[in-house]
Amino acid sequence: MSNVTMDTIVSLCKRRGFIFPSSEIYGGLGSTWDYGPLGVELKRNVKQAWWNSVVHHRDDMEGLDAAILMHPATWKASGHTDGFTDALVDCKACKKRFRVDHLPGSGDLRKCPDCQAEIDLIKNPPRLFNLMLKTFLGPIEDESAITYLRPETAQGIFVNFQNVVNSRHRKLPFGIAQIGKSFRNEITPGNFTFRTREFEQMEIEYFVNPDNASEAYKQWVEQRFAWYQEYGIKKEKLQLRIHADDELAHYASGCTDIEYEFPFGWSELEGIANRGNFDLSQHAKQSGKDLQYFDQAANLKYLPHVIEPSGGVDRATLAFLVDAYREEAVKGATRVVLGLHKELCPFQIAVLPLLKKNPQIVEMAKKIISGLKKNYVVKYDDTASIGKLYRRQDEIGTLYCLTVDVQSTEDNMITIRDRDTMLQERISLDQLDKYLQEKLG
Ligand code: ATP
Repeated sequence: MSNVTMDTIVSLCKRRGFIFPSSEIYGGLGSTWDYGPLGVELKRNVKQAWWNSVVHHRDDMEGLDAAILMHPATWKASGHTDGFTDALVDCKACKKRFRVDHLPGSGDLRKCPDCQAEIDLIKNPPRLFNLMLKTFLGPIEDESAITYLRPETAQGIFVNFQNVVNSRHRKLPFGIAQIGKSFRNEITPGNFTFRTREFEQMEIEYFVNPDNASEAYKQWVEQRFAWYQEYGIKKEKLQLRIHADDELAHYASGCTDIEYEFPFGWSELEGIANRGNFDLSQHAKQSGKDLQYFDQAANLKYLPHVIEPSGGVDRATLAFLVDAYREEAVKGATRVVLGLHKELCPFQIAVLPLLKKNPQIVEMAKKIISGLKKNYVVKYDDTASIGKLYRRQDEIGTLYCLTVDVQSTEDNMITIRDRDTMLQERISLDQLDKYLQEKLG
């Protein structure tokens, strides 16, 4: 079964501890979500898979973790203070507020997506709304203390460009990667964790000689598109959307979105942009600092161009969840499986005692866990019958269930069950390390 609904995913996430509505006991906030015990593991694994791929497995990348609060001049330079705005319109009938680019139809007469009333954009002109969340630094709440929660992580990379070049003796081409929280006062948050007001981004700025920008752009689009598939997303659920010229910012020469077919339609997971030298030149102007790069080989100073692959951690995590979900008919019942990639699943192994009141079985199970913990995420569970425990582990994506029974305590053999095939093998404990090493690496 492939047509999973968002309701199914939202309810699985709540029931099994992946994602909870934030501040739920107070009625929730509607625009932020909390990752529970399972969700935090999955999200950490998504970030680690990205970090491995774009930092640890490459020679031309560095990492960074810049502060969320930045000097307000940053946002002046980047254009966010003046330009990070959406055009909004209020529906006169239901009083709800919408982004004009989210209203169905085209031209001046549109329909309210909620109550279907007509919205006349001439009589009811849109107003601009800045998406940045404001706060005050220090004890006095006046104009001079205003700062913003960053609406993207990217600017932390640009302002540290020279620090990284100098401290790491970097030559072009090279990139800087960063993962961190960003905040946008979205007008219409929704679709679960897809659009929220607090979210996490994984962003790269890849600095190149301007002559090499188009080639680097092409390579990053290919590599980022391949990454989602490498971690298990079905190819037919992914597509590239190349921005038309009239969609591009004036300084950009190309932008491609990677889209996933969510139950609510094709939507952006990540954008890869060929941004020219806009950001560095703006920061050079605003700060009065020379941010040019000295190209020793060419004996030339210039501002590098950048390729920016910018993705959302929450959107990627949601896509991995949706894509991994499947229902199978097994002996007249329905088995729910989260077929997550072995590096993404929250727990790799569950150790289950067949009889929880048998002290030898429990002792053996606990001993197995302490031996495996160093290399794998392993959980003990004795809170239901074995059949139920298997189903629960399938539903959270655990790759292997190891079952210890009375016979195990006599012959040192355990049962190992595979999440995807449900095949059970009886193996000797002496062989367990080798077995798991082969399967999980
Ligand atoms: P959208 O058009 O969906 O609002 P965007 O093009 O404004 O997205 P970018 O500014 O390119 O998004 O941000 C890069 C990435 O950050 C997006 O591809 C997305 O994965 C993530 N992202 C942006 N806004 C949000 C949000 N409100 N909630 C969750 N993730 C977000």
